[in-house]
Amino acid sequence: MTIHQNLIAGEWVGTTGSENVNPSDTNDIVGVYAQATADEVKQAIAAAKAAFPGWSRSGILERHAILKKTADEILARKQELGTLLSREEGKTLAEGIGEVTRAAQIFDFFAGETLRLAGEVLPSARPGIGVEITREPLGVIGIITPWNFPIAIPAWKIAPALCYGNTVVFKPAELVPGCSWAIVDILHRAGLPKGVLNLVMGPGSVVGQTMLDSPDIAGITFTGSTGTGKRVAAASIEHNRKFQLEMGGKNPMIVLDDADLGVAVEAAANSGFFSTGQRCTASSRLIVTEGIHDKFVNALTERMKNIQVGHALKPETHVGPVVDVRQLKQDTDYIEIGVKEGAKLAFGGERLERDTPGFYLQPALFTEATNQMRISREEIFGPVVSVIRVKDYDEALAMANDTPFGLSAGIATTSLKYATHFKRNSEAGMVMVNLPTAGVDFHVPFGGRKASSFGPREQGKYAAEFFTVVKTAYTLA
Ligand code: NDP
Repeated sequence: MTIHQNLIAGEWVGTTGSENVNPSDTNDIVGVYAQATADEVKQAIAAAKAAFPGWSRSGILERHAILKKTADEILARKQELGTLLSREEGKTLAEGIGEVTRAAQIFDFFAGETLRLAGEVLPSARPGIGVEITREPLGVIGIITPWNFPIAIPAWKIAPALCYGNTVVFKPAELVPGCSWAIVDILHRAGLPKGVLNLVMGPGSVVGQTMLDSPDIAGITFTGSTGTGKRVAAASIEHNRKFQLEMGGKNPMIVLDDADLGVAVEAAANSGFFSTGQRCTASSRLIVTEGIHDKFVNALTERMKNIQVGHALKPETHVGPVVDVRQLKQDTDYIEIGVKEGAKLAFGGERLERDTPGFYLQPALFTEATNQMRISREEIFGPVVSVIRVKDYDEALAMANDTPFGLSAGIATTSLKYATHFKRNSEAGMVMVNLPTAGVDFHVPFGGRKASSFGPREQGKYAAEFFTVVKTAYTLA
């Protein structure tokens, strides 16, 4: 098989690689992808550093043209890239194509942002002096991404980094290098100068760690687990470097007695189980008031019976496999923990056999859970959801906020009073009313509070907060 190589200083390099395996069919090898050595990562950082002066002063039309061309090619190839995404990550084809489309929209948005770069001109407090406030690029940005959004997360970090004039060293998750390789190839062919974008695939312990240890990386943007996020933070403080972390969630969805049952069930099923529950914005705690509890649990269980788990590329599949054997073990371990803790496994949770060897798991629903159980406090990152019964809205709100995390939170209600109160009092970064907790737009801020996120928001025009540094200049007129 051809090796998909790393891109360092504008050259494709690497002679050995590792196999990218399809979680729907472990006999299907998606491709072979090079593994960068620590020395190659250092070369990539040096190349990005050397390319920075030129790229940071490049014309906005050049940046616009490259980002726009990239958006157009991604969109034109959405079927092919969506299939690649489904093969390497296990999302259904519809979800894969949706994510690819979103990546194209992100590049398109930041192509537009290159034409809207602006500063401020103010009068000084001292007469006769002018003040200018401008934003400048940071320098070399290290991008470290997780496996659960193989194209959207790389896009929402690479596009703003380049738009604002930074150069990049990009390390995708080892489990899903395919889509990352494809977008780097597209950007390279779209005309990026040598060294502006460098791709270094391989394990976090070597590639990621070499990036964390480099004094030449001015900013690191990371999405992944809380544990690795803490390492990124510690190393970045050591190097006096800017960093941005997007980590886990334990997202609550409140269902009140006055909820539209159909809306509540659909939102819970979507955000709990679609994409195999492998979204940091997935709902994993359903906090349900007494009056609707039994009706809601019955209706959600009926809905779950209609969810087809199977090969990601089959048209009848609603939920694909778990991403790999390690994540599958994590999911089934938590199902055992939930049972041991005294929650009732009301539906699902079994390993499933399909025509092809893959990591298939029936989505699981726990009832009679409490908010203190480990299944309610720790991120499982699989299709495993708990229902917690509460007396009223006040108890539900307190419980929704009683978590170390604060990424997304939802409420299903027909009451304007409760919806408004929840929007104002939820301690999450994103709040959804009568909508799934997962599923966000590409042009507005994304991010959370508490242990879920650190640093400025991602996406939309708020991305400038991380990818630029502010300069204030005074001139005697
Ligand atoms: P990790 O935090 O291990 O991985 C995220 C990225 O960090 C990957 O590219 C990984 O590389 C890299 N990395 C790992 N170790 C280091 C290091 N020492 N220095 C620098 N980079 C490093 O998460 P996983 O992908 O292993 O997932 C584990 C758990 O994290 C999941 O079960 C889930 O709970 C959570 N998670 C949360 C996500 C979210 O969006 N909130 C997304 C993904 C995971 P590589 O994998 O190639 O070794």
